[in-house]
Amino acid sequence: MKPFVGILCVLLFAVNVTAQRRPTLREINAVAQPKPQRITAIVGATLIDGRGGAPVRDAVVLVQGAKILAVGKRGALAVPRNADVIAAEGLTLLPGLIDAHFHLDGDDGLPALFLQHGITAVRDPGAWIEAYDKVRQSAQPLPRLFLAGPHLDNAPPAYSADAFIVRDAEETRLAINRFIEQGASAIKVYFRLPLGLMRVAAETAHARGVPVTAHLELVNADDAIRAGVDGIEHITSFGTSLLLPREAEQYRLSILADNNARREGRYKMWSTIDLDAPRVKPLLQLLAQRGTFVSPTLAVFEKQPGDKDATDMHVRAFAQMLKFTGMIKRAGGRIVVGSHSSVPHAERGEAYLRELELLVASGLTPMEALQAATLENARFFRIDDRLGSIEPGKLADLILVAGDPLADITVLRRLQRVMLNGNWLASA
Ligand SMILES: [Zn+2]
Repeated sequence: MKPFVGILCVLLFAVNVTAQRRPTLREINAVAQPKPQRITAIVGATLIDGRGGAPVRDAVVLVQGAKILAVGKRGALAVPRNADVIAAEGLTLLPGLIDAHFHLDGDDGLPALFLQHGITAVRDPGAWIEAYDKVRQSAQPLPRLFLAGPHLDNAPPAYSADAFIVRDAEETRLAINRFIEQGASAIKVYFRLPLGLMRVAAETAHARGVPVTAHLELVNADDAIRAGVDGIEHITSFGTSLLLPREAEQYRLSILADNNARREGRYKMWSTIDLDAPRVKPLLQLLAQRGTFVSPTLAVFEKQPGDKDATDMHVRAFAQMLKFTGMIKRAGGRIVVGSHSSVPHAERGEAYLRELELLVASGLTPMEALQAATLENARFFRIDDRLGSIEPGKLADLILVAGDPLADITVLRRLQRVMLNGNWLASA
């Protein structure tokens, strides 16, 4: 009896610890509920389910209410007689796209526009939760909105409107607990926050089951990762870890003197980084070992030959950012997709699609880029128990695109339909 009780206690403890570590984090908005008994059958599409396996041709996906009921092949999975049948031959069916780096910046119509482009969930890594009050009152359907509260920073902040200044461990703990109580599903640490407070942030957020993600300029990425951050926003955040220490310190001093020095300074830095240097490999190994999520946001840094104000130095720096993103993936790191909302080489609403194209340009296969957009981002958000892939029991956030995104990632711009929580959007 005694060993049995002992084993039971260990099991219960393990279940409890797992549950504490992985609660499902929630969007801040209520997404419309469909009729619970209605069944939709999407028949004949090529299915890319988000998990990275081979696509399923001539698939059948059944949706009942808000959830995916069954997934199979035509002929093997029967279509119920009362189902609304969607003939999807020639189309590709994918999970709804997830955006790890969305900024509202006062453009209250942008979330609804992103949804029209197939992005069914966004996370804003640094905005007051009340900054979304007006958006949430909108009559239009919205993507699932995951918020972080303002980013934690030190004075003088680069973006005072989106910053919350914390000066010691106690202020850091207080701020994080308050934002989580208001609905934050992630915590963002900004570049003036000292390393010691990043560690406090990680400990405090993790105790509540919430991930921490970082934009870095001053703290080295490897130090931040060892301090516990779960995600790195922007490929540029790796700059100081990749430079020779003396050069890195010059960059840090320039930013400490003036936040805006990073704008031009990051290109100068990346144009000189030696990606074959011996210090690169241990950083790649650390990323793979820790499973840190990396949201490169390449599209916001994009510089192409012929761009206005782009010199050879800028073009070379951006090419190095692309190259390092590919190196992270090849080394076993976890890339996710973050759009940054508004970027130089995309129309309003299309930044996410540009980011996917740049991830493929950086060396990810289209399948890897699509996984980064769906299940991998769901893991980063800690919502993969209910979103991110097309599997029975998960919520039906789906998109249908014309053509084969594995042959050409740009076909994601040819979106046919979007389903959010089991409801088709009126138009896409
Ligand atoms: Zn940002």
